[in-house]
This record gives sequence, C-alpha cells and structure tokens, in this order.
Amino acid sequence: MRIFQCGNCQFPIYFENTTCLNCGYALGYHSEYDMMVPLQRDHEHWTLIPADGQTYRYCANYQHDVCNWILPTGREQEFCEACALNRTIPHLNSEDNLTAWHQLEKAKHRLIYGLKQLGLPVVSKNEQAETGLAFDFLSDEKNEKGEKNIKTGHANGLITINLAEADSVHREWIRRKLSEPYRTLIGHFRHEVGHYYWDRLVQPYPDEHAAFHRIFGDETQDYAQSLETYYQNGADPNWQQSYISQYATAHPWEDWAETWAHYLHVMDTVETAYSFGLSLHPSITYSDLLKSQATFDPHSETNFDRIIDAFISITFAINSFNRGMGLSDVYPFVIAPAVKEKLRFIHKLVLPYSAG
Ligand SMILES: [Zn+2]
Ligand SMILES: [Zn+2]
Ligand SMILES: [Zn+2]
Repeated sequence: MRIFQCGNCQFPIYFENTTCLNCGYALGYHSEYDMMVPLQRDHEHWTLIPADGQTYRYCANYQHDVCNWILPTGREQEFCEACALNRTIPHLNSEDNLTAWHQLEKAKHRLIYGLKQLGLPVVSKNEQAETGLAFDFLSDEKNEKGEKNIKTGHANGLITINLAEADSVHREWIRRKLSEPYRTLIGHFRHEVGHYYWDRLVQPYPDEHAAFHRIFGDETQDYAQSLETYYQNGADPNWQQSYISQYATAHPWEDWAETWAHYLHVMDTVETAYSFGLSLHPSITYSDLLKSQATFDPHSETNFDRIIDAFISITFAINSFNRGMGLSDVYPFVIAPAVKEKLRFIHKLVLPYSAG
C-alpha cells in the first residue's frame, strides 16, 4: 500500500490513522477520491479541508474503532463500502471480540483497498445476491448439542473467517501444527477472496478457463477427496518446483487461491516500494541479482518480469532487516519458475481491470 499524507499539513500518515499526529485534524479515508482527507466538524457532520461542497460522516463502524472510512451524508447506507460487505460481525459483548474484530477489519480494509487498486469489481451481496461478496466473522461455539467448529473458507462469494484467527497466539499455534511458514489474517483474506475471483474472472470465460486447466490443472477432480488425500499424505516431496506452498498441491482451486494470495502480496509490496521510491544497490559481486528500481506502478506495468524481479529483491532486503531484528522472514517463500508462470497468468487476467 502506498504512503498517505495529511491533506492539511502533508505529514505522512498510515491508512489506519483517525487523527493527524502533526496538525491534529481528524482524518478519514475517502474511497472515491482514494485519499486520506482531513476533516472539520460542522454541527452533526464533517466537511473536508478544503471543502468539496459535500458533508460527510464516518462509517457506522467508526464508533467501534474498526473503520475510518467516510461517506457523503446524503447516502442511505450506514456503512462504507468495506463494512457493507459484512454479513455477520462478532458479538460485541466482550472486549476480546472487539479486539479480534479490530484486527480482522484492519486486514479486510487493506484487502479491499488492494482489490480496488487492481480495478476489480467489489460488490456486496446486498446489491447482487448471486455474484456479490460478503463476510461472516464467526466463533467456535460450545453448547448442549456439542461443539461447532467454524472453518475459514469461501462458498459462492461468502467468506467465513474464524474469529480465533485474529488471536496471534492461536494463529501461531495452528501455523506450527500445520508446519506453515506464514500465517496471517491478510493472507487468509487474500486466499479466500481468490476463490471468489476464480468464480468471477475464470470460470465464466471459456478461453481463460482452458488456460487455467493448462496451468493449474483440472479442477473437476473431486474436491473433498483431494483435500482428504492431502491431509493424509501431505505434499509431494518435490512440491516446491511447481507450487508456492504445500497446501497449493491439494487441489487446483487451492493452488489458484494460494497463488492469487501471493499475487496480491507481490502487488502490494511493489506498490509500497514504488510509493517510498525504494531502490536497491547492493554491494555484492553480482549486484544485478538484487538490483531493483521500483520506479513504476505495478498496476499499469505490462511486463510482469519487472514486477516479480523487483519483488524478489525487495523481499530479500526486508527479510534481512527482519533477521537483524530477530523476527521471522516477512516473505518465507521461494518463487519457482513454474509459480512465476502462474502469477504471470493472474497478472494478465487482472491487467485489463487495472487499466480500464
Ligand atoms: Zn496534518
Ligand atoms: Zn466502514
Ligand atoms: Zn482455499
């Protein structure tokens, strides 16, 4: 994600800020202007600085400290376009749930921002019941009838996230249990939304669907059976030559969703680097190997090699910073040539949306 600036004093700010630490003005994200805007109270409402002739209010979820997006007062909707996608939110009767929800929304708002930068359609199920997107944030429940375990997953545009995933201790425990190198909330969102966009961008189009078969395999093989086999036997020992993760080997749909998540990681990272004017000039013998100039916006870049080369250099550098701080690698993956081709396919598919 790019760096934002306070529109009043030009101080750099984060996407999640609600006040400018420099000039003290309230801030909100205006999704149509794609800007963090300074706000001034005008009786019941807010106006922009400088004013644009409209009055605004914060999304209804601002009161729970989980959203800083604003919308024009004339609209009927209570929620911003990111929060309007929520079908079920956690019970707000506990502090733990509020904390968990806060984490989920932080990741989800970044997801929605990223999808919109790609120009992809983001439509709520409230507007389009069949083809829209919605989120359920649910907790495991224990009652007289036994235990109800919530599975994080996707079904026909409805993305369910188990609230427990917002707890970093729980998430780390699962990560180690499943021997995963990386497990984050934003990773979950990016993976699950990948299933949704397969339904939207691949499945309906015969040419894209045929290309998908060639690159990812035939998704008509029994899904439940494939997953069961994967959980019993694990991945093929040579999985790294063709897949981004072990889980991607389970079924072509999972390969797609895993690769899609990585595509969003790549685009977000390169966008951030571009925004910061980040360039690398490593003092090593073959400096070309890690020489990256993020002098382009990845969303309009047709040459995918440029994007992926920049990404690989940047992540090597950031991993090194993290190791210096005693943290795990930001990007603990190796992108094999076959995976690069899968990512390239996704970029080609998404590019017309970014451009148009
Ligand atoms: Zn300011
Ligand atoms: Zn909102
Ligand atoms: Zn999946």
